[in-house]
Amino acid sequence: STQPYATMNDGQAIPRIGLGVWRTPNDVAAQVVETALQAGYRHVDTAAAYENEDGVGRAIRGSGLPRDEIFLTTKVWNDDQGYERTLRAMDASLERLGTDYVDLYLIHWPSAFRGQYVETWKALIRLREEGKARSIGVSNFEGDYIEDIVAATGVTPALNQIQLHPRFQQRAMRAKHDRLGIVTQSWSPLGQGQLLADPAIGAIAARHDKSPAQIIIRWHLDMGFVVIPKSVTPSRIVENFDVFDFTLSDEDKTAIAGLDAADGRIGSDPVTAQF
Ligand code: NAD
Repeated sequence: STQPYATMNDGQAIPRIGLGVWRTPNDVAAQVVETALQAGYRHVDTAAAYENEDGVGRAIRGSGLPRDEIFLTTKVWNDDQGYERTLRAMDASLERLGTDYVDLYLIHWPSAFRGQYVETWKALIRLREEGKARSIGVSNFEGDYIEDIVAATGVTPALNQIQLHPRFQQRAMRAKHDRLGIVTQSWSPLGQGQLLADPAIGAIAARHDKSPAQIIIRWHLDMGFVVIPKSVTPSRIVENFDVFDFTLSDEDKTAIAGLDAADGRIGSDPVTAQF
């Protein structure tokens, strides 16, 4: 069965599943991206801060696939925020990736204490005009930061990549995205693996004869999100993409809705983060 795409507010299509490559060294990244492309993935999520753009780019060029069949995302890191610095950071990313455009360029974190995310957003708008990014968006823009950049520029991000998994379901942010026409993309979709042993997920997995990871990835798809699970293990990379032959029942979805937890966030709150 063929993989689904979502359409963003700028008309561009994004594959609903991508491979995440955080904490993946360059040479490992080259291998896992090669594995993923062979398994059918057409979407890779990297970042300047992951220090593996070189390996990701090598695998894409080595795949033999036309560049325009692959959806490539990278992100500007916090200490490169600001108008001129962001323009230079994009050129450095493109150089490392060995391509002349990315499909999606994101502001990695608002890094609000720096007070530069509006200027950074203006740089992304220019980069889209120049064709270096086909689409532009944000990541970790919780709080009111989306309202700020839209008020300053009139340009709404195509997508917001936020922490989202069954223990941290982000209902308020999802409602805002729906209101503004922004695609919701889930980072740490498996809760960094911590959710895979949950008994409620296990019971659903047994009913569908699927793995816990496949159940959670299917939940993201059925909820309308774009999802970027990470694995460096070839069999798991294949497994995580083998989710197009079933859907969750209303009963399954109700059970997963009940896993949302007030303390479910892993790591920093973007509104108070000091990095
Ligand atoms: P994740 O939720 O995707 O979990 C990955 C971990 O789950 C793996 O390391 C492995 O231990 C386990 N796992 C994966 N597939 C499995 C399977 N089939 N069976 C058993 N275990 C399995 O965690 P993540 O890497 O934090 O998030 C995914 C991606 O999201 C990242 O690689 C990155 O691209 C992105 N991300 C973005 C931000 C951001 O600030 N924008 C932050 C974190 C992550």
